[in-house]
Amino acid sequence: MTNEEILRSDALTLAGLIKAGDVTSEQVTKVYIDAIRAEDGKYNSYITVSDDAVEQARLIDEKIKSGELTGALAGVPVAVKDNICTKGTLTSCGSKMLSNFVPPYDATVVKKLKAEGMVILGKTNMDEFAMGSTTETSFYGPTVNPHGTNRVPGGSSGGSAACVAANLAPVSLGSDTGGSIRQPASFCGVTGLKPTYGTVSRYGLVAFASSLDQIGPIGRTAVDCAALFNVISGVDDRDQSSTISEKVDVDKAASFDVRGRKIGLPEEYFGEGIDEDVKARVMEAVRYYEDNGATVEKFSMPIIEYAIPTYYIIACAEACSNLSRYDGVKYGFRPEGVDNLMDLYVRSRSEGFGMEVKRRIMLGNFVLSSGYYDAYYNKALQAKALIKKAFDEAFEKYDVVIGPVAPTTALKAGESLSDPLKMYLGDICTVLINIVGLPAISVPCGIDNEGMPVGMQIIGRHYDEQTILGFAANYQRGVRT
Ligand code: GLN
Repeated sequence: MTNEEILRSDALTLAGLIKAGDVTSEQVTKVYIDAIRAEDGKYNSYITVSDDAVEQARLIDEKIKSGELTGALAGVPVAVKDNICTKGTLTSCGSKMLSNFVPPYDATVVKKLKAEGMVILGKTNMDEFAMGSTTETSFYGPTVNPHGTNRVPGGSSGGSAACVAANLAPVSLGSDTGGSIRQPASFCGVTGLKPTYGTVSRYGLVAFASSLDQIGPIGRTAVDCAALFNVISGVDDRDQSSTISEKVDVDKAASFDVRGRKIGLPEEYFGEGIDEDVKARVMEAVRYYEDNGATVEKFSMPIIEYAIPTYYIIACAEACSNLSRYDGVKYGFRPEGVDNLMDLYVRSRSEGFGMEVKRRIMLGNFVLSSGYYDAYYNKALQAKALIKKAFDEAFEKYDVVIGPVAPTTALKAGESLSDPLKMYLGDICTVLINIVGLPAISVPCGIDNEGMPVGMQIIGRHYDEQTILGFAANYQRGVRT
């Protein structure tokens, strides 16, 4: 097997070759680490590259050989977003605030990766504290989209999507609070799954908005995402919001048949403000399903109008509370030469956080303040109930709801930093899903007239990852192979 073939293989293929003894995890890992060292200067998709990955792989090879490790992805390398704690390895969250934070423990998902026998290649770049849609707010500089050097990779898991797109990892983990797995997957032309809230433990995921955050897999194929989802999911007594959930049947997803299935298309996702090319590509994909026996129906979901305000109120309210722990006292950045305690708090936070994070802390404190709480935060919670109702009604009729992942393809670098509101509006298609905890997957479905990837979003019922992964795999089997 050539190095090039290794770098182009999907994760399950690599796992099969490793199991069969055709290649070792050590060989595969070394090819990836060498490629990252040689190529990632162009993309900046990693913040930290593991020093001991090859060594880890060697130990894993021994355990595979002895029969101790038999998991579906044993021996396969994986990249991890830098807001997921890794014992002994910098976990910066893309922020100066945590630029010296080396966790003394592994997140539950990291423990699970290790127990599976997966090799962690490194930690990937992201928008600061996962706030953003471009990976440009990172303290470590922006990540570049492998499909076009002047394009952003999306965000906030831009590093995790770009490294898979650039063949610098076969699969990765991202986190999705309002679209941060799906939107970068869409911009970079890879597949990304945001699982049902509660299926994957958040223990050791640095909190942004706790009721919305969810860790999920990014890969080249839906089937790889299914396999990696199985590795990381499961109830965890360290995360009170985690729930019991079933594993996905990967073979069933791979051979899924859409005949007789019902697809709902919310008209609002195909209306004004969505690029013509994006609409056209998603509709072509929908037609593919129709040609293969699915029924398609348009319906109206007027509540989409409230998606952005509801999301930003809830997300900022939770963020300002979660981020109050960064005070320069316990851990994280602390400036030199402070005079007193107040000075320590003020300067740690003023110098440790970037612009976007500060904007959200201020917004969050505003919507939670007495006098405004009812007008904003309580209203957002009411809207959340209406959004839940709208999806419940849709799923009485349809097996899945399909739309675009984002209104546009990858933006040009620097375009949105100056206009945050415009950036927030770009989240219109993804945020509703987090507000009500649904699973959704982003699947590449062609390119626009400038060659940039377009993503289709397939939304499913709670805990029905099986069906959306099946839909995604069915499309990839028919169209891409
Ligand atoms: N772009 C959205 C935001 O800026 C989503 C971020 C995320 O999912 N972490 O909040």
